[in-house]
Amino acid sequence: MGKVTGFMEYERLEEGYEPVPARLKNYKEFVIALSADQAKQQGARCMDCGTPFCNNGCPVNNIIPDFNDLVYRGDWQNAITVLHSTNNFPEFTGRICPAPCEAACTLNVNDDAVGIKSIEHAIIDRAWLEGWVKPQPAAVKTGKRVAVVGSGPAGLAAAQQLARVGHEVTVFEKNDRVGGLLRYGIPDFKMEKSHIDRRVQQMEAEGVVFRTGVLVASLGEDSKVTNWAKETVSAEDLKAQFDAVLLCGGAEQSRDLPVPGRDLAGIHFAMEFLPQQNKVNAGDKLKGQLRAEGKHVIVIGGGDTGSDCVGTSNRHGAKSVTQFELMPRPPEEEDRPLTWPYWPYKLRTSSSHEEGCEREFAIATKEFIGEKGKVTGVKTVRVEWQGGKMVEVPGSEQILKADLVLLAMGFVAPVSPVLEAFGVGKDARGNAKASTEAQGGYATNVDKVFAAGDMRRGQSLVVWAIREGRQAARAVDEYLTGSSVLPR
Ligand SMILES: Cc1cc2nc3c(=O)[nH]c(=O)nc-3n(C[C@H](O)[C@H](O)[C@H](O)COP(=O)(O)OP(=O)(O)OC[C@H]3O[C@@H](n4cnc5c(N)ncnc54)[C@H](O)[C@@H]3O)c2cc1C
Ligand code: SF4
Repeated sequence: MGKVTGFMEYERLEEGYEPVPARLKNYKEFVIALSADQAKQQGARCMDCGTPFCNNGCPVNNIIPDFNDLVYRGDWQNAITVLHSTNNFPEFTGRICPAPCEAACTLNVNDDAVGIKSIEHAIIDRAWLEGWVKPQPAAVKTGKRVAVVGSGPAGLAAAQQLARVGHEVTVFEKNDRVGGLLRYGIPDFKMEKSHIDRRVQQMEAEGVVFRTGVLVASLGEDSKVTNWAKETVSAEDLKAQFDAVLLCGGAEQSRDLPVPGRDLAGIHFAMEFLPQQNKVNAGDKLKGQLRAEGKHVIVIGGGDTGSDCVGTSNRHGAKSVTQFELMPRPPEEEDRPLTWPYWPYKLRTSSSHEEGCEREFAIATKEFIGEKGKVTGVKTVRVEWQGGKMVEVPGSEQILKADLVLLAMGFVAPVSPVLEAFGVGKDARGNAKASTEAQGGYATNVDKVFAAGDMRRGQSLVVWAIREGRQAARAVDEYLTGSSVLPR
């Protein structure tokens, strides 16, 4: 519960950032974690509110008041035990979670929320430093074999849980490195990839086998999703060789913008641009990397992926960066009595925006303009929203200069040939159809085949992927052994 009067005595303290000019010079993380003393004081702000909405606001249901209290009391070792009891990878969420828990914090009703994410960050970083994070191999093996397809946060969380209860787990990943969008998508400046490598080592010591560069089934003809596979395994072989298969392939199909001029050179999906920089940061030599250097860059899509394109373009040395959002500019402050404890509607300014970017709201792209087959501009129009309908503002057309256009309008669905190869049914949005019910949850219509993460729920967050991976692991364990000690 922290200190009874802590929330009245101490202000919320944000984690520090390296100055913009310094951080633009490289792709390293620039957030300065709280010191032990600062984290202790922030933990003291947790006020024993009685009904910790934060615990429900957090998709993995982190037991937040308990770890806040333990940090306040200086008992860091028990704090990491509590944190790990609900979250396999707090070093990922402590860095890149948007922290819906803080929106739900009772203090957030009329004060600044407890800095839950920064406390989580401090706990796990200290735990690694102190050597408290160790492999937990199962004492007894079940002899059951599980294939996990996809090594993003959902696949990793599921694989770790399943290995810890004694199953023989193999993770299949089409890319050349483990991590899903944590590895190829999320820029290194938001999360350095050594955090993934460290977990992979831990999981290997727990018995998980990783097979990278192996595509399960097929992606279809014109797929533009990342794929560095050197080998293919069929759905039939996987089903024959394993007692259960868990599909955690993500929702990789990017949303396109089929307006005139789309075929011009210089227009790319964000997921053609971002992974290349991840690869270069990993030391790979790329022929013809997509670069924003010296270019007028237009990022279409106002979300996280777009913001990551802004940060990467600025690090490349773009001449200008402009980000488009179709929706109107949200208010600076949320209407707390209306939205608490839910995720509020308000303007979100990321660290990448702070590094330099023009943000245009209520703007639609009509056409891409080009010369000699290359994009040179974007024709736009202002829009208004009337009764939920988008209406163009007459006479508001404009042409903006562009040498590079990055499409970051989200993801439509998983790559469907993979689901089709397994005969897995889809929901109305094209995701793998499987419920999340306590009994039989995460099971698809095909015997022994389960699905979790973005592949099941659609484009989402790392913390939701971890939750789904953990819950699906329990469902698979129950299917294989008739019961499970794994938490839901
Ligand atoms: C640019 C970007 C930035 C983001 N930033 C954030 C953020 O800051 N915070 C946040 O919480 N979320 C963020 N997200 C969302 C988050 O990354 C995803 O919700 C999360 O990674 C989903 O996890 P997953 O395990 O379900 O799938 P993924 O992470 O997509 O992993 C799926 C993996 O499966 C592999 N795979 C797919 N099909 C096959 C196959 N047939 N055979 C073998 N392997 C296969 C893929 O190669 C991939 O590695 C971001 C997303 C993007 C694109
Ligand atoms: S995982 Fe995200 S929502 Fe949960 S406690 Fe951490 S920051 Fe909050």
